[in-house]
Amino acid sequence: MQDIDYQACLQEIYEETKHLLGQGKVAEYIPALAEVDPNQYGIAIHTLDNKTYTIGDAETPFSIQSISKVFVFSMVFKAFGDKLWKRMGREPSGNSFNSLIQLELENGIPRNPFINAGALVSTDCLFSLSKNPLKDILNFVRSLSNNPKIIYDSVVANSEKDTGYRNAALVNFMKSFGNIEHDVDSVLNTYFHQCGLMMNCIDLAKAFCFLANKGINPFNGDSILTLSQAKRLNALMQTCGLYDESGEFAFSTGLPGKSGVGGGIVAVVPNLLSICVWSPALNKHGNSLIGMKALELFTTKTGISIF
Ligand code: GLU
Repeated sequence: MQDIDYQACLQEIYEETKHLLGQGKVAEYIPALAEVDPNQYGIAIHTLDNKTYTIGDAETPFSIQSISKVFVFSMVFKAFGDKLWKRMGREPSGNSFNSLIQLELENGIPRNPFINAGALVSTDCLFSLSKNPLKDILNFVRSLSNNPKIIYDSVVANSEKDTGYRNAALVNFMKSFGNIEHDVDSVLNTYFHQCGLMMNCIDLAKAFCFLANKGINPFNGDSILTLSQAKRLNALMQTCGLYDESGEFAFSTGLPGKSGVGGGIVAVVPNLLSICVWSPALNKHGNSLIGMKALELFTTKTGISIF
């Protein structure tokens, strides 16, 4: 695998997919995201031997949305370990990311950490660890991506706050089952801000490298997760990382990954690299339409996959 020409590969993928710009729709249910220009498209690869390859709009920051679920889950998984499984499951939901239906049937325990309900529980857990969750999340992602300039976009966060009725319903509903321990407004505010983190493809490819690197941040040697936890988190991304299109993503790419409704998808190749594709127009499952195709082409052209 050492002799793959990643730059040439990105060029080919870009040429073969850019005609798809114009298809799909930006996430309209969050007003600030509805304004984003859909005709943007970038890819970045960061390898464990510390090389970055990019094409297109790889340096343009975008709203990472659900990709933030991986960061906050990592923070609480490190601290609470297997105790977390009392408060969330690890099975795909097969339902949309903001569905309430299963929660009622399953006593307020979300199916997995990557649907909204599960992410809200992770954020609630962080309040048990941290006096200032927003500051700690920011420091965590800055350190993982080796970029001290990452910020929250408060316009996006406030736009979600103004319209986040479903998330408010989810958190209140779980509180009624005793599965939210802290103040619901504080948990929601933190959740909306973490979704509003602005990062570019390079930041995200770098920030996911610890999951390719056995749980160790390659930039400073920090142990983020144990080897076993990193394996488990990758397995969760493989099975639950792309909403109710997780099966299709696993089938077509053979990689663990996480998407967000801002149009980013990050995928991990254990022991080798992480890759982020961003293009804001989404398919009907809420995943970047071009991102899905680009990552399928990446594993097809390079022959890389975990299988
Ligand atoms: N902030 C979004 C929401 O809660 C995140 C959704 C996503 O990217 O899946 O609705």
